[in-house]
Amino acid sequence: MAALAAVTALTLAVSTAAGNGRLTPEPTKAAGATPLSHRSTLAPCVISGPSGVQMSEGIPTPSGYARSTGTVRALNLMIDFSDAPATGSALDRLAEFAPQTRAWFATSSYGKLDYRPEAPIGEWLRMPQSFRAYGIERGAPFEPGYRELVEDIVAAADPDVDFSEYDLVNVLVTPNAGPSALDTVLSVTFAGNREAPVADGVPVANTSFVYSRQDDGSGSYAETGYRVLPHENGHVFGLPDLYTHEGGGAVGHWDIMSEDWGVDNDLLGWHKWKLGWLEDTQVSCATTPGTTEYTLTPLPRRGGAKLVFVPVDSRTGYGIELRVRGGNDAIVCRPGILVYRVDTAVDTGGGPVRVHDSQRDSGGCTRSPNVHAELSDATFVPGEAFEDTRSGIRIKVAGADMEGNYQVQVTRRR
Ligand SMILES: [Zn+2]
Repeated sequence: MAALAAVTALTLAVSTAAGNGRLTPEPTKAAGATPLSHRSTLAPCVISGPSGVQMSEGIPTPSGYARSTGTVRALNLMIDFSDAPATGSALDRLAEFAPQTRAWFATSSYGKLDYRPEAPIGEWLRMPQSFRAYGIERGAPFEPGYRELVEDIVAAADPDVDFSEYDLVNVLVTPNAGPSALDTVLSVTFAGNREAPVADGVPVANTSFVYSRQDDGSGSYAETGYRVLPHENGHVFGLPDLYTHEGGGAVGHWDIMSEDWGVDNDLLGWHKWKLGWLEDTQVSCATTPGTTEYTLTPLPRRGGAKLVFVPVDSRTGYGIELRVRGGNDAIVCRPGILVYRVDTAVDTGGGPVRVHDSQRDSGGCTRSPNVHAELSDATFVPGEAFEDTRSGIRIKVAGADMEGNYQVQVTRRR
């Protein structure tokens, strides 16, 4: 049963007819005001993918996605249908997600993202067509069903809502519409979609839909069921899916874009840098030949060095960070140094990040439900080392100090 639930723990980032691949960065007008201006010492680590990758790990995130720092206003609209009439109140549905998601982002971003969930319409919006008529299913494209649904939502909400005041939209669907999330996860985000319907002069371009309830029956729904929303909003901010057709086997529970069921988890340091939540001063770019030592502070702790990135080429590199239990990370059972490969040429859902497992075939150190167990002990502890002989890169955990910081030695043979 746990395995089944883990398989269904997948939510989708679906490409749209607009296709993010067509979203080219704005010409230079934004230069200097956006994450484009990273410190020059970090330049070799500011890797980006080839054009045509729909949703990439590359930095910077193309324009068209929602801002991920500062005050971000999230418009929440609760909808139901004639063939799936809501039973509870719309504000109760909102309460399943809103305060927790705001807190999750505040914690993960070290206060850099002030996420404001707002619901100017506190009632269910009844859609003019039945749920069945929209043809919504897992993996459904934006055209035509979702376009019709978004147009109908805009028409229903427009008299009471100024869409231009919001950075993103959450559509919280009555939980009785469609299949149980245990069978099929319908929740989906259409992000960076400039061909979306226009409301109040702006395209409704970054919209997350949440269906059903991610309730595995373990009794933890009240604490963990909201986590589908920060995952879906991650897409709105430009993050790709890290799970693959094999489920959470590439990244495990080390990032909410990999697994959003079960106990709380955080984002990789790479994602935090991509989103602007880590300052450039908290990131080191390991380009020096020979051996260089770095100190890393625990990822949940505010301030200090968080990420060492070892570029391999202009598209790929290794992220190195210190993961311990704390903040949004509730399940770390082997605190230590996480090493993962980032490939900006690999698209969403294809495994753009792969965590290196320091303890292969160990079975992992957790039995927490809906957590990919094998990678739960993937971290490296003092004395252990990771080696990529092909790239001539060795990463050794040299030690840990009294304050809980770790020393890491990166050796580059070229
Ligand atoms: Zn997703």
